[in-house]
Parts: sequence; structure tokens; C-alpha cells
Amino acid sequence: MPRPIQATIHTEALRHNLARMRRAAPDARVWAVVKADAYGHGIERAYEGLRGADGFALLDLQEAERVRALGWRGPILLLEGAFEPRDLELCSRLGLWHAVHCTEQIDWLAAHKTQQPHRVFLKMNSGMNRLGFAPGAFRAAWTRLDALPQVDEISLMTHFSDADGDRGIAHQVRAFAEATRDLPGERSLANSAATLRHAQDAGVRGDWVRPGIAVYGSAPDHPEHDIAHWDLQPTMTLASRLIGVQQLQPGDTVGYGSSFQADAPLRIGIVACGYADGYPRHCTTGTPLLVDGVRTRMVGRVSMDMITVDLSPVPNARIGSEVTLWGRASSGAVLPIDDVARAGSTLGYELMCAVAPRVAKALD
Ligand SMILES: *Cc1c(COP(=O)(O)O)cnc(C)c1O
Repeated sequence: MPRPIQATIHTEALRHNLARMRRAAPDARVWAVVKADAYGHGIERAYEGLRGADGFALLDLQEAERVRALGWRGPILLLEGAFEPRDLELCSRLGLWHAVHCTEQIDWLAAHKTQQPHRVFLKMNSGMNRLGFAPGAFRAAWTRLDALPQVDEISLMTHFSDADGDRGIAHQVRAFAEATRDLPGERSLANSAATLRHAQDAGVRGDWVRPGIAVYGSAPDHPEHDIAHWDLQPTMTLASRLIGVQQLQPGDTVGYGSSFQADAPLRIGIVACGYADGYPRHCTTGTPLLVDGVRTRMVGRVSMDMITVDLSPVPNARIGSEVTLWGRASSGAVLPIDDVARAGSTLGYELMCAVAPRVAKALD
């Protein structure tokens, strides 16, 4: 028997979350963002749940080829555009839409030979200061693109740095609106957080929203809000089983570095899951998990292949008992990935992307 750890992708939950994001921006079209192999879910596994989207947005050209290979004939958007001139050949061949965020990418387009004019998304740096043209340079970039025979329709986009937090997006929305005033073209601004928190504003909603993380059942603004608040469902369950049980006496310690010491008799379970499976090593005593659907806590350190768990709330637990690291237990009990991420000082994004290749993946 293989090690019992397994990640399960929930098709119905992906469908539910996508519909939820559509409800948040009812008159906009929805890009399902599937970069990073659909946030670790696997593009092929996520596809069935996400094919109701209006398009797929991603970064990697090979991932775009995989989406086309699944039979998707609708829009695909390369969020970072071409990385080198010959990427434009694949865009022509597969009909990929692509971001244009710098002068070099316009030069490459101007030199590109194609019968198929490209649909491009001209990106503005409205304050994030990663990719995009500064507001003052945006119109000139638009004018230059508009004059190219290689370019078909030009859409306008930007990305928010603080849609999940206190600073908010007003300053970026303003910069974008001012610099694009009376430019034609569809608009795309909102990631998950902006879609959930700000999409009642038509200037934020635009023509296309671009949710990623919320589609995958993680609250973009956790811990202010959780997935129950946003009516999102876990789309990935990481589950394993107990492979050992120990009875500790007061003073006994657990695992490497003896970081946990029992102050009373304590029954603990040993779980087949470690950092080599992608479980965050920064998690330590107190991190939540479910044993037979009952919420309990990790004790001690995460090692390569094992973690240890307090069995006091689950006296009937034994070798073979189900352990839910995050997601949904067989009983239906839910442990949001965000709760685990927080205990490990990280984000749901990182955990779902980090599940290791050695973990078996299944679909339900
Ligand atoms: C990743 C990404 C998104 C999706 O962001 P979430 O926070 O996961 O919703 C949207 N737009 C761009 C440009 C991105 O890179």
C-alpha cells in the first residue's frame, strides 16, 4: 500500500466558487485564473469544474497549450505576455490573448509576422510597481499599439496591491480611470479580493474580473473574513491517516528538538504527512487539523514525513484513522486551508501551490 496521504480536488466546489464569483460581478465576464498549474490543483483536474468560465488566464505558455489540448476554444490570456519574441508565434498559432506591459513587448509585436492580429491587454502600473506602463506613458503605448497591423483589439488592465486590506484600491482605481479616460476598449482590474469586496463599483468590476484564490476556496482577505463569510467551499482536501499512536507521560517530549513537552498524560497520533509532502514546516504546536472529522491540534515540529497530533478530543482514534490536513473530512467537517496557513505564517496560496509531486492526487 502506498503512503496514505492524498490530495483530492473537488469539481463541484470549483463550480460553486466560480458561480459565487460570477454573482459578485454579474455583468462582467470571468477569467478563471489557472496560473501555477491551477494554484496547485492541476489544470487538467480543475478544468471540469472551471470550464464554465469565460476564459482562462495564466502565465506559462506550456500551460496555455495544455488548456487548448483540453479542447478549450475560448479566450486564454497570458497575464505577463510574451517573455521573448518567439512566444508571439505560439500566441498566433493558438489564438492566445496577451498582456503588453513594457515597450520591448510592443517592439516584438511590431516585428512579428502574422496573418492573425492579436487581442492584447495593455497593462498599466497604477501603483503596484511590478509590471505595466506608468499612467503618464499609457496613452502613448496605446497609440503605438493601435497603429500596428499585428494588433486587433486593445483592452486595458491593471492589478491591485491592496484589494484585501486597509489601504484599499481607491488610489489605483483613480489613477487607472484618469489615464484611460476616453480610451476605447474593455477593462479588467479586479482579482478575487477586489471582486468580492469592491465589485459593486462598476469602475472596479469592469468588463472582465480575474479571480484566482477565491475560486480555489481560500478567502483573499483572511483573517478579516473566512470562506464561510464569502460562501466559498474548499476545492482541495489534503488527507492522510494515523500510522502510529503513542501514550505520553508528564515530562515526555515529542519529535526533533523536543519542542513539545507533555505536562499531563497525553495520547498522540503520528500522521503520514510532512514537509516533503508540502506541509508547511513553519507550523508548530497548535496548528489545527481534523482527526476523524474532529478538530484538534498539532504538537511538536513538522518533520520530513510525519507530524504528531493531540488525540485528546478523539479518544477512539487509532491507526488508520482519517486525518484532514485541510479541506473537507469524510464527515463533512471543514478545515479551511486559511486556518492552517495562518498557523504557519503563510497564505492559502502558498500551501495549495506547494503540495509535493509525491502526494497522490485524485478528483471527486
Ligand atoms: C494571480 C493574478 C490574479 C488572481 O489573483 P487572486 O488574488 O488569486 O484572485 C489576477 N490578476 C493577475 C494579473 C494575477 O497575476
